[in-house]
Amino acid sequence: MEISNKVHEAIDGFKLPGELKECIRYGSGHINDTYRLTYETPKGTKRYILQRMSKSIFKKPVELMENVSGVTAWLRKKIIENGGDPERETLTLVKSNDGLPYFVDSTGEYWRVYLFIEGATCYDAVKDDNDFYQSAVAFGHFQRLLADYPAETLHETIKDFHNTPDRLEKFKKAVAEDICGRAASVQKEIDFILEREELTHALYDLQLDGRLPLRVTHNDTKLNNIMIDDETGKAICVIDLDTVMPGLTANDFGDSIRFGASTALEDEQDLSKVSCDLHLFDVYARGFIEGCGGALTDLEIDMLPMGAILMTFENGIRFLTDHLEGDHYFHIHREGHNLDRCRTQLTLVKDMQEKLPQMNAIIQKYK
Ligand code: ADP
Ligand code: MG
Ligand code: MG
Repeated sequence: MEISNKVHEAIDGFKLPGELKECIRYGSGHINDTYRLTYETPKGTKRYILQRMSKSIFKKPVELMENVSGVTAWLRKKIIENGGDPERETLTLVKSNDGLPYFVDSTGEYWRVYLFIEGATCYDAVKDDNDFYQSAVAFGHFQRLLADYPAETLHETIKDFHNTPDRLEKFKKAVAEDICGRAASVQKEIDFILEREELTHALYDLQLDGRLPLRVTHNDTKLNNIMIDDETGKAICVIDLDTVMPGLTANDFGDSIRFGASTALEDEQDLSKVSCDLHLFDVYARGFIEGCGGALTDLEIDMLPMGAILMTFENGIRFLTDHLEGDHYFHIHREGHNLDRCRTQLTLVKDMQEKLPQMNAIIQKYK
């Protein structure tokens, strides 16, 4: 078992019962460093997930962990009330020797331990409609269980994350400054965005005036952030709660549609391949609304398609902003990569705006 001193130090920071038998790198997450620990105890084998939280991405680890602790404790209570198994249906944090839900090592890195969820798997890619449907049910169910959570008590760990008007302001500033001299070459895209300036207020204003409630949002609603039961094939648990924040239900729904119902990859260069697949939209909408189980208001449900348009628009704005500013936020793997990404998003926005009546009709079927 070859593990670094730092990992040893972290393991020692948690008094886990039994004898450590194995420690391996685990999973295919891109953000945190994840390890699986196996202990032999008199009661049998017990496994855990040990994670070093990304220092570069999460600047406020204590606030982040307060969010995770609050939400997991709430979920645990709800799951027990519903007669479920809290150790499989939500993440369970293990306290460190200091009695905290994390451990800080001698170099200032933050670590945490979760019980390992047994008998379930995270899949990286959607292979069929059922996978997409299962993730929809899981993220909808997450909304349902947290519907009466006081969302305003959560920390906004990434400030203005889905403040679309603010994203637009930052974009305008990037156009005005044009530090790379690229604005002239993307005038078409700039115009497309500016023509839709009003759109950036579509949900934000409803939230400001209290017509849309603030909810607990997940903000990373990928398939590989849910666990699927190996026996039943059903989603049992939502994981990866690092980006849990107060927000709108339509954000989580919309982001899933943005990347999950698109017929092309986010950086496809042949824009004729890019569209929103209404069948996949239907599959996700059905699962999500079912999972929410009546916890959403009428207006929240009505605004789900707008969430899809807005999340896509917001990403298009962000990609173009980064292109104009010299690609310092999103990693690029080729010249113009962020511009390609911007173009797929704007193509999707146009397609979704045209398909809005059909999307609304689908939503109404499941309301
Ligand atoms: P990242 O932010 O790096 O994606 P995740 O929290 O999603 O980190 O964890 C990475 C991977 O580790 C997951 O995709 C999953 O395979 C595995 N994993 C995380 N937590 C658990 C857990 N409690 N039980 C079993 N596997 C887990
Ligand atoms: Mg993950
Ligand atoms: Mg993550």
